[in-house]
Amino acid sequence: MNYSDSERVAAILEKIGYQKAQIPDESDLYIFNTCSIRQKGEDRVYGFIKVVNQWKKKNPRLLIGITGCMVRKTSSRNTEKDLKDELLKKLDTLDFVFQIKETNRLAEILEEAEPQLDLPQLEEAELNDYLKIKPNYQSRIQALVPIQTGCDKYCTYCIVPYARGREESRPMEDILNECKQLVENGAKEILLIGQTVNSYGKSILDKKTGKFEGMEDPFVRLLTEIDKLSEKGLNRLRFTSPHPRDYSDALIEAHATLKTLTPHFHLPVQAGDDEVLKRMNRQYTVEKYKKIIDKIRARIPNASISSDIIVGFCGETDEQFENTAKLYEDVQWDMAYLARYSPRTGTTSVRAFKDDVTREKKAERWHRLNDLLEKSARAYHENLVGKTLEVLVEKYNEETGECEGKSRENKLVQFQGNPNLVGSIVEVKGIKGLEWLVKGELLGRTQSLVA
Ligand code: SAH
Ligand code: SF4
Repeated sequence: MNYSDSERVAAILEKIGYQKAQIPDESDLYIFNTCSIRQKGEDRVYGFIKVVNQWKKKNPRLLIGITGCMVRKTSSRNTEKDLKDELLKKLDTLDFVFQIKETNRLAEILEEAEPQLDLPQLEEAELNDYLKIKPNYQSRIQALVPIQTGCDKYCTYCIVPYARGREESRPMEDILNECKQLVENGAKEILLIGQTVNSYGKSILDKKTGKFEGMEDPFVRLLTEIDKLSEKGLNRLRFTSPHPRDYSDALIEAHATLKTLTPHFHLPVQAGDDEVLKRMNRQYTVEKYKKIIDKIRARIPNASISSDIIVGFCGETDEQFENTAKLYEDVQWDMAYLARYSPRTGTTSVRAFKDDVTREKKAERWHRLNDLLEKSARAYHENLVGKTLEVLVEKYNEETGECEGKSRENKLVQFQGNPNLVGSIVEVKGIKGLEWLVKGELLGRTQSLVA
């Protein structure tokens, strides 16, 4: 989501006359687009701002700003009387602060921070909705398309609903238009993004506007519409993240029937114990989660299934953690993003529970799951040996002569190739499965780069 937001911030900056600095420490403007999911992300900003402050000593024209999830609703601009929250107190060299939804107003915000600037202002129509900004896409071949903002689920550990606000779906027509233009310009892969993509069109705000009324499953409808772009060259449609609570049979069926939907399922479980899931307010049980996995595997036998897991959540006993480890053994996710619980100020878990699992225990549990992950990831990759994989080539490494890209199962594949293959879809035979990737052998090209 942050990568995608940065593409919109960059687009606005270009519109008002900025260009990308070739040498970072000579830039006139530095904006941190921040993540607050864990303390680690915030600490990185506190660390790096010290470096940027040094640049400012050499170049007093440098303006430093911050956006993204570290900017809560209570954060306001850096004027003496408004110095309200911890963030602004800690980062006292900041010149400006803005919510990501205010990206359209960047010219005005920069002029407030530095009255000597005289920047072109945007048209009224462009000022309303930041998702209407045409992004400065980082890749012509693979594009990120946001379909909703915010989140209504309020998992007790999570800062997202506070940092990004209520869930709101982007109009289907806007999404379809963006996808169509992307494909016409050569995009082969579209990744739809949102906090709980499968509740697209079903939030309280969506119900208020009545925009999606009459659509039984607006997300599946959206996927079906985008899939029609396969005729124009779209090869892969992916999305992240869906929530297990709203995972419909129709969505699994869409994977089996739509041409472009890939056989990769990222389905975050967070914990493998019902008590812990309840304290997290995840609104599903282990049994319900397992049922979804069984249905996926029955319908799409080669499915790659990944997850997010938090270890050491408030009150997690050894036994409850063992249930998560058992679920891992059982499900065998071929990829998992493992996190140690990090208390976020303002969330329910901080108010209602104690962060009572020690650092050492969290580390121990993390390593236990990581060992399981290394085994299951390798096993999945080994299973791809001898199979023909369709790879969308992203990079060529001159030193090794290898091309690199992802298979439809979202697995990293490396093979001997040439720079002309970048941007095309090739067939590669899997020859060796490693922990984090598959080594392969080029068989041939199936689709060339659209000029
Ligand atoms: N909307 C997605 C997740 C978004 S946050 C979902 O519901 O699945 C990405 C991941 O960060 C989460 O899945 C969770 O595993 C992790 N995470 C969120 N808050 C966290 C916290 N306070 N401490 C540790 N990990 C956290
Ligand atoms: Fe956070 Fe839960 Fe919403 Fe995901 S679903 S963004 S974890 S509150």
